[in-house]
Amino acid sequence: MLSREQIESLSQEFETRTPQEIIQWAADTFWPEIAMSSSFQTQSMPLLHMVTGIRRDIRVYFIDTGYHFWETLMFRERIAAEWTLNVIDLYRDPRWDVFARLHIRTLPLEDPNLCCYLHKVQPMQKALKGAKAWITGIRRDQTSVRAHAKILELQEDGLLKVNPLLNWTKADIKKYMEENNLPQHPLYEKGYRSMGCAPCTIAVGVDDDERAGRWVGRGKVECGLHTEMFAHKDIAEVKQEFRMDVKEMNQR
Ligand code: SF4
Repeated sequence: MLSREQIESLSQEFETRTPQEIIQWAADTFWPEIAMSSSFQTQSMPLLHMVTGIRRDIRVYFIDTGYHFWETLMFRERIAAEWTLNVIDLYRDPRWDVFARLHIRTLPLEDPNLCCYLHKVQPMQKALKGAKAWITGIRRDQTSVRAHAKILELQEDGLLKVNPLLNWTKADIKKYMEENNLPQHPLYEKGYRSMGCAPCTIAVGVDDDERAGRWVGRGKVECGLHTEMFAHKDIAEVKQEFRMDVKEMNQR
């Protein structure tokens, strides 16, 4: 068990290490209580390639919100089959079903924070319960929130978030993709630089910011997986972030 001080010191040391070295350390230290998440978009391919090159059987969590582009689902199927990956799809808790059916078309527009919470944050929290480490693909150059992240981040519940690509840039991703001849998400060439759910993603220009097409006009840049929202395990602690009254939730 690493102390908070040891983790901070290692995190500093990892600032000058390669992503592969950081992933190898995490796999050696935490296997089998370790998993990674992937959204199966173009920029996810390098991390997926590196991690599964080290541990082909690692659990790869893919959050199936029900709002994905068909191309994303087919790309996930193709890569999982071709690379023989251990992909596990995550879904919202069925106790939200009545609420979700009532608001299915309007929820991403009227309350995207609640929509992301029940479709992404909560399923990932549940999947990672009991895990010791979670490898993610966030980078400092992606958003203002991610700019302040650390390579190793210890959560209150003891889960260690490992961010091996934190220091990488868009150019590093492109270079690795080319050098390793990695496949691109089928919508990438159509201008979808950062792929999310269909109601919340638009195509952008080649010179636009990578994540400029996400939640446009909704004052939102993060889904909640990489914010304080993820640290709170009880909806009561985060419901002030939602606009919609969630009393309709069919909690049993
Ligand atoms: S990205 Fe949009 S559709 Fe997907 S879970 Fe978040 S708000 Fe809902």
